[in-house]
Order: sequence, then structure tokens, then C-alpha cells
Amino acid sequence: MTYLLNSPGDFADEAVRGLVAAHPDLLVAVPGGVVRASTTPKGQPALVIGGGSGHYPAFAGWVGPGMGHGAPCGNIFSSPSASEVYSVVRNAENGGGVLLGFGNYAGDVLHFGLAAEKLRHEGIDVRIVTVSDDIASNSPDNHRDRRGVAGDLPVFKIVGAAIESGADLDEAERIAWKANDATRSFGVAFDGCTLPGAREPLFHVEDGSMALGLGIHGEPGVRDTRLGTAAEVADLLFDQVIAEEPPRGKNGYDGRVAVILNGLGTVKYEELFVVYTRIAERLAQHGLTAVRPEVGEFVTSLDMAGVSLTMVFLDDELERHWTAPVETPAYRRGAMPAVERPARTEIWDVGAVEIPEATADSRECARRIVTVLEAFENVCAENEAELGRIDAVAGDGDHGQGMTFGSRGAAQAARDAVDRSAGARTTLLLAGQAWADAAGGTSGALWGAALTSAGGVFSDTAGCDDRTVVDAVRAGIDAVLRLGGAKPGDKTMVDAAVPFRDALTEASDTKAGAAIATAAQVAREAAQKTAEFPARRGRARVLGDKSVGTPDPGAVSFALLMKTLGEQLSQ
Ligand code: ADP
Ligand code: MG
Repeated sequence: MTYLLNSPGDFADEAVRGLVAAHPDLLVAVPGGVVRASTTPKGQPALVIGGGSGHYPAFAGWVGPGMGHGAPCGNIFSSPSASEVYSVVRNAENGGGVLLGFGNYAGDVLHFGLAAEKLRHEGIDVRIVTVSDDIASNSPDNHRDRRGVAGDLPVFKIVGAAIESGADLDEAERIAWKANDATRSFGVAFDGCTLPGAREPLFHVEDGSMALGLGIHGEPGVRDTRLGTAAEVADLLFDQVIAEEPPRGKNGYDGRVAVILNGLGTVKYEELFVVYTRIAERLAQHGLTAVRPEVGEFVTSLDMAGVSLTMVFLDDELERHWTAPVETPAYRRGAMPAVERPARTEIWDVGAVEIPEATADSRECARRIVTVLEAFENVCAENEAELGRIDAVAGDGDHGQGMTFGSRGAAQAARDAVDRSAGARTTLLLAGQAWADAAGGTSGALWGAALTSAGGVFSDTAGCDDRTVVDAVRAGIDAVLRLGGAKPGDKTMVDAAVPFRDALTEASDTKAGAAIATAAQVAREAAQKTAEFPARRGRARVLGDKSVGTPDPGAVSFALLMKTLGEQLSQ
């Protein structure tokens, strides 16, 4: 449990403040997280790494020369919001683009993805690398769909060193994926962790047992087994990881491995060394050479009792970057070359955002956008109870509320933007961000992305003609597909959005309002049809079969809003 706290709600923020206060030579606090105390050299890609809090040293502890340029810090075990990611990137990026690195979890994928949409529309080149080293979470053929655990350390260390040695964004992205593809981890837990302020751990493991395949957010293991001796545990970890060793003598791999034995929170260093004694024996028996092995705490899960083993199957390039110098609060090796690192003097803050100048016709278009968003708000409020009811069948019952909060936030932000003389593009970009922030949840992030992407099609210097409106709607749907990754048949809003988009394409030579109204009818029928099959994506997939007989709430709300859009544009 956590002995020292002021209030559970402030815990994560206060921990970051203390970290920065303790490392003023390396870190500066910015809205949403931390960045290096020195400026990013002009044109150098920025490596922005993150995720929730509760995992120190991951992620803010790895910001500094040779590794991360910035880290957005979410709440305990929850992804930073898209605005936090955006803010940290705006502070870290300096003309070389940005590589966003995070563990492969749905919340992180959505929020980092949403921030990426917005940044791309502002002309910043953004690449994404999701770490997926945990072999317990998916099969070897689906390595990139696994979740990320302690593999965050070597992947971010390697790509950070590559950037320090001059890699551009393409090169950094390539090396990051290469490092991720060469990294495997497996962990076991002896007991669960307790959130600050909570009395009970998130799960318990029975005395004398251990849970195989731990997660780092209090997820229990995949199955329980008898807890053996330290050597037996070491053998189990080693056997699991080595089972995925690539062939030696191919692709530059010749038995040299980066090895990380990671304590999750309450396993003591001496215990880890006892385990490592056996790991070292097994490495030698297998003819493997451990390259700069690490034994300690790297990716923790509050006070979880657990241990994981990570190996990176190295080639010369990965080894060079793995062993390169690094200087961060929690990870230091070797001596950084003495290059000048000018101190950061400015901090970008969203409060100071200027509204770009807009022409009269674009401002007129922005006013129409406000009217549409207000109509969305009304329709969501009218249907809030019904959308909540159908979400409760197999989801968590918050879809009506999420849509109401989101559309209300978006309409408010759009009104504020118009009051400040914003054009169409800026108005929709701000509305999209507000929707995601106000709604939360999966659909909130997706609708936020849709509005943001649609906004990117408009301009602040031209009015909106029918063609632009249709293109913007299409761009919004493409963003949902890209970000959510759902396919037709998964039972999500995509089941309404894809037939809608196809119908819109067929009708695209008529007026925008009429075309959208016709396509919205197709969307409505498609949404109703989702009642016939089980959910395969999103929260509802766990209870997928329960959802048969009820349409997907996100598909229903999508059809409602497109009907509203068609009506508004026809007026
Ligand atoms: P949450 O599931 O986080 O509680 P909501 O209840 O607001 O979020 O929204 C649920 C809806 O989100 C689902 O009905 C589905 O239409 C949509 N959804 C979930 N996952 C995806 C996805 N990957 N792509 C597209 N839509 C999705
Ligand atoms: Mg829900």
C-alpha cells in the first residue's frame, strides 16, 4: 500500500512535481508532463514517451540526453489525455518531427493517436511506435499486438541513442520498430498492487502461488501456478523468453542479448540478484552473451510483488545504441559527449494559444459549424437515456452521457473560438479537442479525432463549399478507422460509418446536405443491423454475446448525428 500521500487525486501530479524539483538540471515541468531542461537541437526528432503514472522510472524518469525528450504523465495506470500529449510534444518538438513511444494499450493508442492527428494537421511529422514485448499477451505471430511491459526500457533507450547519434525521423522510426521486434518479456506476480489511498490491492495471489504473465496495471496473471524456489522462477522466466529466440547467424543476431531483470515494486534487489544468478547460468549454458545486463526496477507497477525478464536479441546496430551513454534521472550510463545544451527558456502553454487570423467567409463558415455542433448537442441530450440503456447491455452504460458531454464541450469551445474571430479550421480543431477532453471514453476520443481531422480539411482563409464539407466528413470517418482500428463486423460505429461513407461517395455529385441526408438513412439501417451480431471490439467485446439483439450504441449515435448534419446543411 501507499503510506505517504496528501490526497489520492493529487498523488500522480505531486510525484511529477517532486521528480522535477529533485532533478532541475535534467527536467522542466510543462503542462501535461515533463521535458528536458535543455532545448531540443533544431531539426532533431523528439522522442516523446509516456503512459500512465505508477510505473517509475517509466516514463518521466527516462527524459534526458540520450533517451526521451519529453514525457506526458497520465494518472495512475491511465493514459495521459490527448491534450497532455499534445502539450508535451509542442514543448519538446523543434522542427525534426516527433516519435511517440508508448506501451500498446487501447487507452494510450487512442489518446496518443488523437494528439498525433492534431499535430499532423499543424504540419508536425508524427510517427508512432507501440511497444509490445509481453509474450503472455498474444501469440508470436501477433507480436505487434501484444501489450508493452519492461520492453519500454530497451526500446526507448535504443531509439533515444539513435536520435542522439544523428538519426532523422525515418531512421528513428525504423530503429524503434526493429528494437521492439527484437524484444521479448515474461513476468510473474506474487501479489497485486494497491492504488494510493485504497485499502485493498487490485488483486491477490494466494500464498505459495504465483501468477504467470503479469500486466503492469494491476491486471492479474494469465494463470496461477505453484511458487517455486528463486532458481525455479528464473528457469521459468528464461524458458519462456528463450522460446522466442530468433535463429542465430541470421539478420546480424549471433547470441548477444540485452538482458533486463525487472522488479515490479516490492521485490528487493537481493532477491533479484538471487534470481539473476540462475539467469546468468542459463545464459552461459545456452551460449548467450549478456550485453550490459540490468537488474533492478525499471518498469514498476506501484507496490506490485513481481518480477519480469526481458531480452533483446541484438545485432550490431541495436547493441551500439543499447550501450551508448545516457543521462536521465533514473537511467545513467557512461559519459555523454560534451556538447552544448542550451537551457530551455520558454514553455508553451495552451492558454496562450493565439487564434490565427481568418477571412470573413471562413468566419461565416465557423458560425455554421457552431450551429451544427449545437444541433448535435441537442440530439445527444434528447437521446442520452436511450444511448445509455443500449450501452449498458454489454458495455458500461455511459455512452449517452459521453456523447452529451462531448458535444456540449465541442459546441462551447466552438462558440468561444468564434467569439475570438476564429476561422472554420481553427474552430473545428478546438472543438475536436474539447469533445475528447469533455467526453472521455473510447467514443469521445474517436469523435474528437473525427472533428479534428475534419477541421484539417477546412481553412481559415476560405469559406466552405459543398465539396469541402463532404471531404471533411470523409476525413473524419477516415480518422475513426485509422485510430480505432475497427473493421466492419466488429460491432462498432464503423459498421454505420463505412456504409455511410460509401453511400456518400456514390451520391457525391448532388448537394452536400442532400447527399449526407441520404447516406444517413443508410447509416441508420446499418446501425440497426448491428443488433444481429456480437461485439468484437471495444469494451463490449468481453461480453460480446450478450450484445446480440441490441444495436451498437456508437453506431446508433453516429447515424443520429449524420441525420442531424444532413438536416442542418439542407436548411
Ligand atoms: P467506452 O466503451 O469507453 O465506455 P462509449 O461507451 O462512449 O465508450 O462508446 C462505446 C462505443 O464506442 C461503442 O458502441 C462503439 O461504437 C465505439 N467503439 C469502441 N471501440 C471502437 C473502435 N475501436 N473503433 C470504432 N468505434 C469503437
Ligand atoms: Mg461505454
